[in-house]
Amino acid sequence: MHSDLDTQLVEALRGRGQRVTPQRLVIHRALRALDTHASAEEVLAAVDDRLPGVSLPTVYATLELLSELGFALRVGPAGGRVLFDPRLDDHGHLVCSRCGRVEDIDALDTGPALAAARRRGFTHARAGLVVTGVCGPCGDAA
Ligand SMILES: [Zn+2]
Ligand SMILES: [Zn+2]
Repeated sequence: MHSDLDTQLVEALRGRGQRVTPQRLVIHRALRALDTHASAEEVLAAVDDRLPGVSLPTVYATLELLSELGFALRVGPAGGRVLFDPRLDDHGHLVCSRCGRVEDIDALDTGPALAAARRRGFTHARAGLVVTGVCGPCGDAA
């Protein structure tokens, strides 16, 4: 059973000359199912039973590939971690440097930055803003 997003990923992998492996599809589905900003460790825990023996570096490399292909948004490093976001529209992130909480922020105008990137010959440009600070609950606890 394949969803539309599976089909799109298969086409994107082929377009880049990358192998289409069940592992890559499972990792992509797992990230979407988590439906939150997830570290490679969290994705590994989610696919462990379906992909016995898969290693953390493999999961990490696959998530990097997904973000290169536009199927995940790489967040960070923020607060010492790299996270992958299944939400694909351009949005920014607030990251708490104490507890690691990540929240989405909207209404970012990345148009000028992306236009500047295009003028310099960049393709596949994505812009992301990460704001680090101390979240409300952590600030209250201090
Ligand atoms: Zn916090
Ligand atoms: Zn996000």
